[in-house]
Amino acid sequence: AMSVPDKKVESVCPYCGVGCQLTYNIKDNKILYVEGRDGPANRERLCVKGRYGFDYANHPHRLTKPLIRRADAPKRGDAIMDPDRVMEVFREATWEEALEVAGGTFAKIRDTHGKRSLAGFGSAKGSNEEAYLFQKLVRTGFGSNNVDHCTRLCHASSVVALLEGIGSGAVSNPVMDVTKAEVVIIIGANPTVNHPVAATWIKNAVSNGTKLIVCDPRRTDMSRIAHRFMQFKADTDVAMLNAMMNVIVTEGLVDKEFIESRTIGYEELRKNVEGYTPELMAPICGIDAETLRYVARLYATSKASMILWGMGVSQHIHGTDNARCLIALSLMTGQIGRPGTGLHPLRGQNNVQGASDAGLIPMVYPDYQSVTDPKIRANFAKAWNMSVDLLDPEPGLTVVEIMHAITDGKIRGLYVQGENPAMSDPDANHAREALAALDHLVVQDIFLTETAYLADVILPASAFPEKNGTFTNTDRTVQMGRQAINPPGEAKQDLWIIQQMANRLGCDWNYKHVSEVFDEMRHTMPSIAGITWERLEREDAVTYPCLKEGDPGDPVVFVDEFPRESGRARFVPADIIPADERPDTEYPMVLITGRQLEHWHTGSMTRRATVLDSIEPDPIALIHPLDLLAMGGKPGDLITLESRRGNVTLYARADDSSPRGAVFVPFCYYEAAINRLTNSALDPFGKIPEFKYCAIRITMG
Ligand code: SF4
Repeated sequence: AMSVPDKKVESVCPYCGVGCQLTYNIKDNKILYVEGRDGPANRERLCVKGRYGFDYANHPHRLTKPLIRRADAPKRGDAIMDPDRVMEVFREATWEEALEVAGGTFAKIRDTHGKRSLAGFGSAKGSNEEAYLFQKLVRTGFGSNNVDHCTRLCHASSVVALLEGIGSGAVSNPVMDVTKAEVVIIIGANPTVNHPVAATWIKNAVSNGTKLIVCDPRRTDMSRIAHRFMQFKADTDVAMLNAMMNVIVTEGLVDKEFIESRTIGYEELRKNVEGYTPELMAPICGIDAETLRYVARLYATSKASMILWGMGVSQHIHGTDNARCLIALSLMTGQIGRPGTGLHPLRGQNNVQGASDAGLIPMVYPDYQSVTDPKIRANFAKAWNMSVDLLDPEPGLTVVEIMHAITDGKIRGLYVQGENPAMSDPDANHAREALAALDHLVVQDIFLTETAYLADVILPASAFPEKNGTFTNTDRTVQMGRQAINPPGEAKQDLWIIQQMANRLGCDWNYKHVSEVFDEMRHTMPSIAGITWERLEREDAVTYPCLKEGDPGDPVVFVDEFPRESGRARFVPADIIPADERPDTEYPMVLITGRQLEHWHTGSMTRRATVLDSIEPDPIALIHPLDLLAMGGKPGDLITLESRRGNVTLYARADDSSPRGAVFVPFCYYEAAINRLTNSALDPFGKIPEFKYCAIRITMG
């Protein structure tokens, strides 16, 4: 009888952007087990995270009361990071007191130091409605556009390139379209680990004859079933992609009609790739000229070719250029606008697409509407029932810029909802110093994260299964998440907390139900204007663009035109720019960071999920067996990785998927927080840091 659920609740997986639908089986306010549902992205499939990663919600570390930093607490930065000694640093408070201190101090800073002295990090872990209200709070309550979230660390560069090239930052075709493609290129992505259910669709496609091309410096699982595996040298994407475009141009494989009728800027691109012959690029990217030619021909001449990419493309100082090349490749061959073609940047968090759409971005309002456009500002002022003069006409600062602005004394107060910059930001030692230097840090989360340890006020929030709201997956599908259990203790739903905070900053909000927030969203966001709450309740999933009520929603876009001026897409040429920090004699190895199957991002949830944490309990570095041997080490030995910015000690795991000279480390381990080592140099367009490349040295022990 123990294991018989008394309730079933239909919702979505809290982890990756695939957006698998699932059913929570509940007894006595506890999730007993999870089953896959017949959602459009998963058809009942789930990966190990979705299936087993749920008991974090009942973990004893859950925050259950508001906390305020003690007057006699140790200096921030010297915080005691031990859940059992929390009360030496913080004291419990009532919600009333915590909100008064949290909101009241923000108001004081704003009124003394100006509106731009405050900033907010919203979260791709929250719902669309939470993201929308959070950005509205920053823009109207704080009074500036200093609002951002982890998209900045993820696909910001891809989004810049996509907006500039094809007028929309979202995917052109859903993942499932791989089953309609003749050729699929996966570049800089490891879907088996990071989008596992998407990987199963790719494997199914390959079994049915789709030719898979895997391009990656690491020999990922997918390479084993690839038609061709191009293990190019880390950091040489532009060299490889320009060489492929050179082949397509010189061999006359371009789609002339598509270029003439639907694009601009081709001549400039053609001239630029002239110099990038496969023979010249082969020694740079490490792929022989014949393979470059073969793959270029295959991609260009197939009936339907699709490109999927991930952080390996985006997290470079030339991430925007990398994405520009992928866009150009699809445009010059007309491989976009039909089923089985197009561009698909695989989204990370389950709601990073939705949080971006909902406006957690410093330069745009919801639906990517520019904050600098007076007409758009006027529209939002009207929708938000306020004077347009109160909306900041300047774009705000991005994640890493906000950290620097804190050190410079320009930003004094920060509101963090559900993000963990002390773990996720590059050069984490600097990020932690910056957080500790704030006059006022408020963290709203479900656990005492590494960031929360530095806070002045901690607001206990709700986990995924504890709230209702919508989430938008990598396919642009808006899906309904439903409350299955109640938050523990005095923890509150995020939507309530954000409203309370807003009202203490002079707003007058009174949303009684999450559906009211969604309704306001769809009236300010043309792309979801046709999606009603009732329809979502009924159908569980609707794909945008959905412009009018009753529209079916468009899984494949750009069929006739691109959402740019003149309806045409734009080619943007790119040249080779080397990584910001190359290996040298002092720091001879390369560090690549990323994720692993069992853990999710900074690990705050999965490392508190029993099954997942018992599979991967300890921090590891994946290193080539021969590199390990050359150091006199063996698998399981402790090694220390050190860059110019910091060091960590973790266990060596022999792994021949890493190329020699490069080490791969997941960023989920707080006890070996690898972002202490990473470089915060930014891509100039997307402002994304270079997580995928920095110089390190390794010593035993
Ligand atoms: Fe969840 Fe992603 Fe796994 Fe699906 S593939 S179950 S969305 S983590």
